[in-house]
Amino acid sequence: MSDPTPTAPEPVEGRATVAFVGLGNMGTPMSSRLVAAGYTVRGFDLSDEARDRLAQAGGIPASSATDAATGADLTVLMLPNSAIVTSVVDDLLAAGALADGALVVDMSSSEPLETRALSKRLAAVGVRLVDAPVSGGVKGAQGGTLTIMVGGSDDDVAEARAVLDHLGRVVPTGAVGSGHAVKALNNLLSATHLWVTSEAIEAGVRFGLDPEVMLSVFNGSSGRSGSTENKWPNFILPGTFDSGFGLRLMLKDMRIAAGLARAVGAPTELGEDAIGFWATAADALEPAADHTRVAEWIAQHAAVDSGPPSEEGERR
Ligand code: NAD
Repeated sequence: MSDPTPTAPEPVEGRATVAFVGLGNMGTPMSSRLVAAGYTVRGFDLSDEARDRLAQAGGIPASSATDAATGADLTVLMLPNSAIVTSVVDDLLAAGALADGALVVDMSSSEPLETRALSKRLAAVGVRLVDAPVSGGVKGAQGGTLTIMVGGSDDDVAEARAVLDHLGRVVPTGAVGSGHAVKALNNLLSATHLWVTSEAIEAGVRFGLDPEVMLSVFNGSSGRSGSTENKWPNFILPGTFDSGFGLRLMLKDMRIAAGLARAVGAPTELGEDAIGFWATAADALEPAADHTRVAEWIAQHAAVDSGPPSEEGERR
């Protein structure tokens, strides 16, 4: 019988050593791609299972973020939020794991204003920060087809790009923090689309329409979005709700976007309403719920079904 344990790919000579902190739904496939591309990847996650997955893929599990980052050419962070990013970076600084000139790439969906502040603090000790959040979900992480929104100086972005090009399409967005800003704004759109799409489909179903027929019409019409093209057909209609992106992470991103709008004095009224709807669903569903569960929640909790309309269009 053949050995089921995969053989680690040989590191490619000249390829950097990458420290990868945060090996969750996204970090696991992303770090695996870097291993497959010939990088030496030293990874850390609080979860033993996550570190085991990296070892299975041929990476080197580290005993701490400091252990992973010390001596690495580049440190990638793929963590839940800004508060955790800041605490990990502070630990790395305190332990002397980030040498003068080190490059940190924060691929988490973090808060742009905190990212700017962190960048200033790091620059004061000679450490460079690039923000590089992603869209494209777990599927995009597995296939190397993420959209990567990269903020930072031209030189720093060029240096990070050597690694990022293995993970997806790099879109330079401007100064540090700009990637995190556009990422949050994108997810505010995405979440708002998903909510209204789910309401529209529920209305159609109660009227007697087939959701597949509705999606086919929306996708050839102006109601089209990532929700109608991807989330509804792939995760909601089949009832799997397994996109791999948590509802609470989506809500975090929406709040970042609204906070950014408030900070610059831009209107965000619809966004604030959408946050209220999502927050109600997040309170009702289990903490680890996939974000696509909102569609199911809307169907169950939206206005009580008063029955199909009569032929005259009046409610029975
Ligand atoms: P996840 O919850 O699956 O993974 C986060 C990982 O970070 C977990 O494995 C957790 O154990 C680890 N972690 C937490 N604190 C840590 C610490 N102090 N040190 C080391 N590890 C720590 O989340 P995810 O879905 O992989 O998302 C990661 C980031 O990417 C988030 O900011 C999210 O908003 C963003 N994002 C996710 C998706 C998606 O589809 N899942 C898509 C785009 C962006």
